[in-house]
Parts: sequence; C-alpha cells; structure tokens
Amino acid sequence: MELAKTTWTYVEEYLKRSQTLIIPIGSTEQHGPTALIGTDYITATKIAQEVGENLGLLVAPSLNYGMANHHLGFPGSASLNPSTYIKVHLELLEGWISQGFKNFVYINGHGGNIMPLNCAISELKRSDNESKVSIFNWWHLPSVREYEEKHFGDENGHHATCGEVSLTMFTEPEAFKQIESKSFKIEPKSHHWPLSPKEMKIYHPDGRMLSNPGLSTAKHGENLLELSVNEISEKIKSF
Ligand SMILES: [Zn+2]
Repeated sequence: MELAKTTWTYVEEYLKRSQTLIIPIGSTEQHGPTALIGTDYITATKIAQEVGENLGLLVAPSLNYGMANHHLGFPGSASLNPSTYIKVHLELLEGWISQGFKNFVYINGHGGNIMPLNCAISELKRSDNESKVSIFNWWHLPSVREYEEKHFGDENGHHATCGEVSLTMFTEPEAFKQIESKSFKIEPKSHHWPLSPKEMKIYHPDGRMLSNPGLSTAKHGENLLELSVNEISEKIKSF
C-alpha cells in the first residue's frame, strides 16, 4: 500500500498491527545517452511497491533526489550535498518515529546515497531509540549479482548498468520509444574517487561508467524485478 494514497486514519490503524515503513530512495541524474535520468528512483520505487504489496506493508513516497554531485556536469542532473542528504533523512525519520513507526526498510537505487544514508542512520542511533533501519541496495543482492554476471558479465558496468537500464525498460516502455538503443565499447580507466563534475566528464564523457547498456532488454528487467522483490521480501520476513 502506498502511504501517499492512504489517509492518516488508515495509518493510525496500520500502526496497531505494523510499525514498518518501506522507503524507496533514488536520484535524478544522467544515465548516459540511452537511459533515463530518473532510472535510480524508478527502479527503487517499483521494487519497493511490489515488496509492499507482497508483505502488506506501507511504502513511503520515494525520495527522488540523492547525492549525485559528480553528475552535475550533465544537463538535468540534480544533487543534494552529503550534509543536506543526512539532514533530510534524519528529519524524515524523526517525524515518523514520533508517530510510532519503528522499523524502516530503505530500498535504494543509487550508489552515491549509501555513504550519507549510513551517516544519517549512525546519527539516529546515537540516542537510545528502538528504531531499526535496514538498507537494501537492490543491485547488490546476491540473486541480482548472479543474474547480471551470467547475462552481462563485465559489460554490466558501474553506472547506467545493463541491469538498471533493463529494469526501467520494463517499467517505462513508453519513454524508451523515444530513445535509440545502441551498443558501446568498454574502455577501462583508473582514477581517484570521488570525482568533481568536470573530472567525471573527462573520465566518462558520455556519462556511462564501464557499461554497455546496449545489452539491456525489458525481459531482463522483468526477471531482475522478480529476483529483487523475492529476495528482499524473504529477508524482511526473516527479521
Ligand atoms: Zn543508476
């Protein structure tokens, strides 16, 4: 059930049987010339909504902006600084905790969010409160990794990956009608990290990072969605 499509009275009743809230988080950032700027929140939102349906849990609206400073050189990308991102999560969590929510399950679609989100949780847990927070970076799930390794191998890459692009091809077929798919050559590069926006454009001029999204298909996306939803649902049930 989507939190945004319920009423406060529904949530009050829900809290009597469950104190769990699923929170999808992503980013609004370029994903190379052949994939969507909303990729990271589109994937996280879809997985979160299906997990919520599976388990009868409430799903918060996705946080569609993330920590993506290195993408700012590409038009359309948006980013919150780590310090802002930490504050946003702390303030959202503190509000929900004050109402009785205790268990928070983040479903994350963007690597840049991991570090500041972990910082936010560390700050939250500085005080003795009963809240429990778990984070699922869906592309790190063992079943997803195994699938991507088998079907995409080294061409999956680190950004605008075959896996995430496939998932959006499955959920957003209309958007992909406007985009011509093409194959890319992978050119391995070593560099320091993190990169500034200017450095990102020097090392990864078209925005991909070692990926060949030309291998992506909606069918792979459907399979990856199912694997992610099943694995995350099983893990939540075992908590
Ligand atoms: Zn992404």
